[in-house]
Amino acid sequence: MVTLEGTMSVPQDQLEATQVALVVHIALTQAEPGCLSFEVWPSAENPLIFHVKEAFIDGEAFADHQARAGASPWGQLTQGFAREYQTSGLDLSASADETFMHQSLQLADHASEAGEVPVGAVLVRDGQVMGQGFNQPISGLDPTAHAEIIALRQAAQLHNNYRLPGSTLYVTIEPCLMCVGALIHARVARVVFGALEPKAGAVLSHPCLESYPSNHRFAVTPGVLGEICGQRMSRFFAARR
Ligand SMILES: [Zn+2]
Repeated sequence: MVTLEGTMSVPQDQLEATQVALVVHIALTQAEPGCLSFEVWPSAENPLIFHVKEAFIDGEAFADHQARAGASPWGQLTQGFAREYQTSGLDLSASADETFMHQSLQLADHASEAGEVPVGAVLVRDGQVMGQGFNQPISGLDPTAHAEIIALRQAAQLHNNYRLPGSTLYVTIEPCLMCVGALIHARVARVVFGALEPKAGAVLSHPCLESYPSNHRFAVTPGVLGEICGQRMSRFFAARR
């Protein structure tokens, strides 16, 4: 069982919208097959502080909930709100890795719909999505707009900290040199990726950190949903030929 307890601070001007969205959010979450209990209620002392208490069958059910809620109107509305959560019982098992990789794949699809190389990334800590992004250098006229960088930027802004220790980055394709550098600067603890990038991959294909004197290193889990992630790439490039 995975449990989460804590508080969420709602900005005054968002209070009414939050109250409305919360009714739907509670109903949808309680209807999830893996949800054991889900309660959110305003504090008696401060109506802008909401208490959150939830329990899910396992890490997979919890990750499924995170993925659904994050993409829902509730997730959109509350993504910038300050939260202090404690989770317990969370085992980042292979199935949880796959769940977050599925989320990254959905983001990769946003990229290919926009004519960009299909890469998606999600940054997670304690089972919570901190930031997400998809590749968009062409539309953004920004050579640094890789999925990983966008996810890191979003998480750093949200948590008001340029360092993100203890976090795991899920990305559909092996990160490039620039992104490996950014992951080191951000102190990301673990990188999970799908398919290898034989040309530009800088983690295993062309390991760039071996001779780099940084003290920080991240753990690497390659090949999670690797075949599906790789197919997204080959399908995209085949369609352009
Ligand atoms: Zn990159």
